[in-house]
Amino acid sequence: MSLYANRMADIGTENAFKIGTHIVKVESRGTPVIKLNLGEPDFSAPQWVKDEVIKQIKQDNSHYCDPKGILPFRKAVANHINATRGLSITPEHVCVFPGGKPSIGFTEQIYCNPGDEIIYPSPGFPIYESFVKYLGAVPVPLHLKEEQNFTFTPGQLEKLITQKTKLIILNFPSNPTGGVATEEQLYSIAEIIMSRCSSDVRVYSDEVYESIIFDGQKHFSIASVPGMEKRTIISSGFSKSFAWTGGRIGYAVLPTTQEADIFKTMNINYFSCIPPYNQEGAREALENPQSGPWQAEMNAIFENRRDVIIDKMNAIDGITCQKPGGAFYLFPNISGVCEKLGVFDAFRGLSQETKHKTTPSTLFQMFALYGHKVAVLDRRSFCSIGVEDMHFLRVSIAADLATLEEGVRRIAAAGEDADGFRRFVEKGENLH
Ligand code: PMP
Repeated sequence: MSLYANRMADIGTENAFKIGTHIVKVESRGTPVIKLNLGEPDFSAPQWVKDEVIKQIKQDNSHYCDPKGILPFRKAVANHINATRGLSITPEHVCVFPGGKPSIGFTEQIYCNPGDEIIYPSPGFPIYESFVKYLGAVPVPLHLKEEQNFTFTPGQLEKLITQKTKLIILNFPSNPTGGVATEEQLYSIAEIIMSRCSSDVRVYSDEVYESIIFDGQKHFSIASVPGMEKRTIISSGFSKSFAWTGGRIGYAVLPTTQEADIFKTMNINYFSCIPPYNQEGAREALENPQSGPWQAEMNAIFENRRDVIIDKMNAIDGITCQKPGGAFYLFPNISGVCEKLGVFDAFRGLSQETKHKTTPSTLFQMFALYGHKVAVLDRRSFCSIGVEDMHFLRVSIAADLATLEEGVRRIAAAGEDADGFRRFVEKGENLH
């Protein structure tokens, strides 16, 4: 008899958190690491949000509350969604969660039986893939191409749709690529979904980066395409848009109130309810008129960093990097650097056992951390099925410009340090 249930072998993780132990190890030797690994805005949540939370706690609003989310907050979400997506949902369509993350696994559990197929973007947020096998469902990665700026064509999606397709996950602006699909693209993607999928197939549209979007673009949700509101789960939250990762507030808007109540049942089973004082803070974030200008300012800072850093990144010999349209990440292709440093040869020379645990971009990631004190993430951290020949890094630009410039300088230095890399691999430690 084994200690753990078999399905635990099939659940994944989020490496942005896992790499933390390596960072601690490197820093314990006395050198600070430039941390470009986490997807967390380097801003404080707005003062009016913090004040509201404090006020609520002082008023003793710290007891159990509605498992679906408190009504004033669900009303605020419904108003926000209706104003920004052109829909007419009610608060009863909304279910609140501790962050934008839980609704991913809940959606997969609620709609998918073993054997059902789940289409999700790759590169994509790791939790999309993480739950699929755990549930006995079938992962169907939709590989986003660099040359399409990490979006996809309706034809690419159409090829993956079968009778078994049950759930299609979309994420624009995207983590980890910053890719943004245009309204026209989303219209043609919606057309394929409506013509090829039964009305029971759901689209999970992860819109947590809705407010972090550049070049004067406006966020567009696939749920706004007429007909798609009946099939789409809109997910969003406050971790990114309000720099409030620790508040743990997110929500989903379900096509029907019955579906929202099923999510509520999951909430009751897992955590009963979400802290009411934080929900009041999130309500304040949506309703306070200062929030719009506050978000615009944060957005402009991210956009400026993107503009400065993308040029520096592309100036590195062996790196090509697409210009992200939103979110706060760069996703450079490091194939050239891997070639130059001998990463591919080193990878081929590893024992079978080590090879199974690592990839070329992982070797570079670990070398950059241990050898040059800069933390970034490898390609396989963002859905790993079928990515053997894909060599990318995710670089978070959620840090001030001076830190980012130093981080890029260190990535460039790592990319030139073939001797250091050879020694790192020879040592045989921390290769995955
Ligand atoms: N979806 C995406 C695409 C994300 O990048 C993240 C956070 N990195 C989440 C969901 C989860 O957000 P939260 O921290 O609010 O749970």
